[in-house]
Amino acid sequence: MKIHEYQAKEILKAYQVPVPRGIVAATPNEAEKAAESLGGTVVVKAQIHAGGRGKGGGVKLVANPAEARQAAEDIIGMDLITHQTGPEGQKVKQVFVEEATDIDRELYLGIVLDRAQSRPVIMASRAGGMDIEEVAATTPEKIHKEAIHPGIGLQPYQACRLAFGLGLEGDQLKQGVTFITSLYKAYIETDCSLAEINPLVVSKTGDVVALDAKMNFDDNSLYRHEDILKLRDLDEEDPLEVKASEDSLNYIKLDGEVGCMVNGAGLAMATMDIVKYAGSSPANFLDVGGGTNVERVKNAFHILMSDPDVKAVLINIFGGIVRCDRVAEGVVQALKDLTVDLPIVIRLQGTNAKEGAEILENSGLKFAVARELKEAAEAVVKAVQKAA
Ligand code: GDP
Ligand code: MN
Repeated sequence: MKIHEYQAKEILKAYQVPVPRGIVAATPNEAEKAAESLGGTVVVKAQIHAGGRGKGGGVKLVANPAEARQAAEDIIGMDLITHQTGPEGQKVKQVFVEEATDIDRELYLGIVLDRAQSRPVIMASRAGGMDIEEVAATTPEKIHKEAIHPGIGLQPYQACRLAFGLGLEGDQLKQGVTFITSLYKAYIETDCSLAEINPLVVSKTGDVVALDAKMNFDDNSLYRHEDILKLRDLDEEDPLEVKASEDSLNYIKLDGEVGCMVNGAGLAMATMDIVKYAGSSPANFLDVGGGTNVERVKNAFHILMSDPDVKAVLINIFGGIVRCDRVAEGVVQALKDLTVDLPIVIRLQGTNAKEGAEILENSGLKFAVARELKEAAEAVVKAVQKAA
C-alpha cells in the first residue's frame, strides 16, 4: 500500500526524522491560510501517489500566501502527468504547503527489501534530486549500499559508512547517522516495503532534512497497523484492483490483451509466461484462489469484462483442492448470468477434468476447450489476432 507524502512525513516526524513544517490543504483558501500560518516562503506540492511531480509542474516555490493560493488553484484539480502516472495522469485533490528550505545540496537515501539477499538494503547517494533513476542506470557506483541483517539490525558502522557515502562531515555526519538510524527504525516498525527520501537535503543553515518522503507498506502486515491502513486512498488506486480486493481476488492489471483467470498464483505466473511464448501478452494477473465457486468466477469475469484492453479470455484451472466439474459448473452458470461477448478458451486439468469438459461441451455455450496448456495458449492468441 502506498500513502501520500504528507502522511509519510507525519509518520517520520513521530520517529524523530527531521521534516519541514507543513500543512495539507484541499482548497486554495486552505492553502493560503496554511502559508500565512507557516510564514515566509513556502512550497506548494501536489499530493498524488506518484513521483516525478516536480518535473510535471506539481511542485511550486512561492513567496507569499497570495502566491500559495494561486499555486494551489493551478495544481488542485489538474491531471498531473509524471513518468510514474501513465499518459492520462493523476487528478490532484490536495496540496501540501510546506515551509521552504534553502537548499545547499540534494542527496538520496532509500531503503528497500532486496529479495535476492533476503535483507533490507539501505542506499545512499550524493547525486540526489530528480534524476536518481538516471544515476542508477548510468553511474551505479555513485550509490552506496548496506544490506542489513534482519536479526542484528542496522549497525552503527553501517550508518556511518552510509553517512560518509552521502559526503557528510562534522556535525552533519552526526545528523546523517541519526537520520539514517531513525529512518531504518521507522521502516522496520511500520513494515515498509520501501522508504525513500529523495531529496534528502543539507540546508544552507546546515540542517539535514527530508524534503520528500515516500513510504510503501507490505499489504500482508496491514492487519497489525490499523492506523496506517486508515491512510489508504482508494482514489489513487486502479479501480479494477480495488474492486478485486473487495472480492478477495488477487488481481493486478497489466498492459497486454489476454485476460487470464487462473487458480493459484504459481499457475497464474506460468500461464502468463506461456501466453507470452505463444505470441501475445497477458492483460492481467488474476488468481481466483483455491476454492473457486460461481460467485468468484462471476466476479472475476466482471473485472475482465470491465477492462477494455482484454480481447480474449483464457481460463486455466488445475483441479487439485477444487474439482474441475465444480469449476465447469461455475463457469457455465456465470456465463449464463452475464453477457460475455469475448472469445473464451478454457483449459481444465486435474481432478474430474473429463467430467468438467463434458459439462462445458454440453452447455451449449460458445467457448473453446483445451486439454494442454500450450494448445490453450495458442488458441487464445489466435482469438486475439482474429479480434484485432
Ligand atoms: P518529486 O518530483 O515528486 O520527487 O517531488 P520532490 O518533493 O522531490 O520535489 C521536487 C524538487 O523540488 C526537489 O528535488 C527540489 O529541487 C524542489 N523543492 C522541493 N521542496 C523545496 C524547497 O523547500 N525549497 C527549494 N528550494 N526547492 C524545493
Ligand atoms: Mn522526490
